[in-house]
Amino acid sequence: MEHKFIDIEENLKVIKNRINEAAVRSGRSENDVRFMAVTKTVDPVYINHAIDCGIDLIGENKVQEFLGKKDALKLEKVEKHLIGHLQSNKVRKIITEVDMIQSVDSVSLAKEIERQAEKNNMTANVLIEVNVGGEDSKTGMDKSLFLESFAEISEMKHISIRGLMTIPPICENNAELTKFFNEMYNMFIDIKAKKLDNVNMDILSMGMSGDFEEAILCGSNLVRVGSAIFGPRIYK
Ligand SMILES: *Cc1c(COP(=O)(O)O)cnc(C)c1O
Repeated sequence: MEHKFIDIEENLKVIKNRINEAAVRSGRSENDVRFMAVTKTVDPVYINHAIDCGIDLIGENKVQEFLGKKDALKLEKVEKHLIGHLQSNKVRKIITEVDMIQSVDSVSLAKEIERQAEKNNMTANVLIEVNVGGEDSKTGMDKSLFLESFAEISEMKHISIRGLMTIPPICENNAELTKFFNEMYNMFIDIKAKKLDNVNMDILSMGMSGDFEEAILCGSNLVRVGSAIFGPRIYK
């Protein structure tokens, strides 16, 4: 196998510049868009290097992987979000370990988060993940259930809904992709305007290595970037 040298520091600089430019082009300022490093499958040595270079927000997909790595990470000044599909039986293990769960995709999962948050005497910050493309294979809440589920979750006393998250379908062109991002932005704005209790809609999490600029131009304020920083993932 060919080994390519990956310059994490340089990658971070280039991506940060592109984020800043897109933020400004979208009519906002540079610090209005948060930059998350997605660290799934990445060795702690490289994650710590990214942290030394200024990364202050990381995203992990799997409960077990994160719990196995966290003691090796320099997380004192770093916010940690869970971004992968979460099974209800793992909520107990992760709830006190992360600052946010971005992948709440059902009322039943939210109920378990509520139960565990109450036990721990805390408020859990969550995003509702939306299956914007309506794909069978994708995680995220079905759009037809969204409004009703959102209202139900917003009633839960130990959950604070902070916004929405999505992974759009693989699109053939920019127009199609932008349609999904715009749809998410409109859902975000509509719910925000309702000013529901326990809902502080301030985060719209969308955009990954291949499409973060398009996402920012459509209103994203948190981009989740993995392979563009650390190189292609190697699954063991
Ligand atoms: C892996 C992952 C990312 C990052 O994907 P890249 O294309 O490597 O940037 C972002 N969000 C979620 C939910 C992921 O699982």
